[in-house]
Amino acid sequence: MAANPRPTPPPDSDATLDFDVIVIGAGISGMYQLLRLREQGFRVRVFEAGTGVGGTWYWNRYPGARFDSESYSYGYSFSDELLAEWDWTEHFAPQPETERYLNHFADKFDLRRDIQFRSRVTAAVFDDDRRCWTVTLESGECRRARFLVTAVGPLSAPTMPRVPGIEDFQGQWFHTGLWPKEPVDFTGKRVAVIGTGATGVQVIQEVAKTAGHLTVFQRRPNWCTPLHNRKIDKAEMERIRAGYPALFQRCKETAACFVHTPDPRGTFEVTAEEREAFWEKLYASPGFGIWQGNFRDILIDREANRLLSEFVARKIRGRVNDRRVAEMLVPKDHGFGTRRVPQETFYYEVYNQPNVELVSILDTPLERITAAGVKTTAAEYAFDIIIYATGFDAITGSFDRIDIRGAGGETLKNRWKGGPETFVGVMVRGFPNMFMLVGPHTALGNIPRSIEYNVEWVTGLVAHLRTSGVTRADARQEAVDEWTDIVRHKAEGLLTNEVDSWMTGVNQNVEGKQVRILARYSGTAPEYRQRCDAIAAAGYREIEMR
Ligand code: NAP
Repeated sequence: MAANPRPTPPPDSDATLDFDVIVIGAGISGMYQLLRLREQGFRVRVFEAGTGVGGTWYWNRYPGARFDSESYSYGYSFSDELLAEWDWTEHFAPQPETERYLNHFADKFDLRRDIQFRSRVTAAVFDDDRRCWTVTLESGECRRARFLVTAVGPLSAPTMPRVPGIEDFQGQWFHTGLWPKEPVDFTGKRVAVIGTGATGVQVIQEVAKTAGHLTVFQRRPNWCTPLHNRKIDKAEMERIRAGYPALFQRCKETAACFVHTPDPRGTFEVTAEEREAFWEKLYASPGFGIWQGNFRDILIDREANRLLSEFVARKIRGRVNDRRVAEMLVPKDHGFGTRRVPQETFYYEVYNQPNVELVSILDTPLERITAAGVKTTAAEYAFDIIIYATGFDAITGSFDRIDIRGAGGETLKNRWKGGPETFVGVMVRGFPNMFMLVGPHTALGNIPRSIEYNVEWVTGLVAHLRTSGVTRADARQEAVDEWTDIVRHKAEGLLTNEVDSWMTGVNQNVEGKQVRILARYSGTAPEYRQRCDAIAAAGYREIEMR
């Protein structure tokens, strides 16, 4: 790789710009980025569309929303003081607790003074003469900064079904990802939930407790497994706290930064009895163990995956009284774990309640939303409330919604129309001085763990640019090609990538997103970090600096 040419003097000095860095989004990543850059003396402004901090945990305040990673593995790990003072009250914290935690974080580090709320970014354009980004808000306000950091989240562009009539409905309706702050009362009401992903499952469990009648419109069923949540008392919290160093060390070593990591054994290296006993143990254990802590080959060996799927199917059939309904809930088009596994608490038992009905919209598709409710090809249903748990235009969707233009005016949306191409998931060739946090082609997994690394790496890079007097940093094409090849190589043979889901970039509700793409990096997080560390240690030779 060619050495970086000598930096040329900046065409526009930093002092004439509004900020050194503009960050889009005040969620977990945006807030941490602000803190780290501020510590380095950068002038930073965060633009946030919402009225408060938290990102995902601000917007997704639907009933039943909660972690399905262990709470204590999900918080920020960098501050001993924060770890010492914050108590989690449940192993898998509910949304209000997480939102409180993120507000506490913002207050503790005095972040709000650099966050501008109610400020949705509509456009970001790179000015190649001045080597800066001009960021435009919905209000029309424009601000310029040398660097742009996108902290927009992989699951933050909610999508509605592409059916007519949504606005015609006379009752109340909500998308789970845009849930109102005011409580919604379901008592005695006729409620519809459309969608049965991780979100739908959580909301269904909760709404079924009070709704007069709940109708669940399910397209493709998912493989759901028990969360086994429970409260944490003071004594247990002290034990967890004492174990923080070991816990975060473990998360650094595991494939996807969870406390769970694949068992080194292959499915067929044990006897049938041992296999069954192991799966029983995992099914009875909290969290993602059955998905992330299973035999190492369950997501690559078809036969192993088939056996595990049969095991989970037996569990579903054993929990749902009506055999016809049980069959509707057992996925037939994909194996266990090849899509994100929703974590549940008596989800399947909900279908034994007299007030709950399951409608398969695979068999009888949605035709339209009417003034009274929902019309499928088979029947019309009347509702007081419709809940759309229909997911997100994932990974690239939150970028697509901003008019991002790089050097020469090309839009990022256009650049990525065949799928994203990046340099370590952080940079895009032709979009100089732009850095993505948890963007496409980075290691996701237990997201806050990935975020901390991502933010620290970007901070190191931006600090390096300043020290070297660099005002224009762009990923070299060969570095992008190399990373894209790695992403492709790591995805080979994974059953996950043979299935339509947000993880493969498919969303039937979004124009042009019907075809699978390589949206995620499927290698391990330690491998990812090792590579990024090596890039930094060698002086970022993959980046063209001027
Ligand atoms: P999702 O997994 O994409 O699920 C969307 C659901 O809506 C699917 O069941 C989908 O059916 C259905 N759907 C979409 N469009 C439809 C249409 N036009 N007609 C009928 N049904 C339609 O979205 P999500 O449940 O919001 O979850 C997204 C991700 O967010 C999760 O996988 C997870 O990573 C994250 N999440 C995390 C937590 C947590 O940590 N606690 C909680 C919730 C979500 P098809 O499957 O047939 O497309």
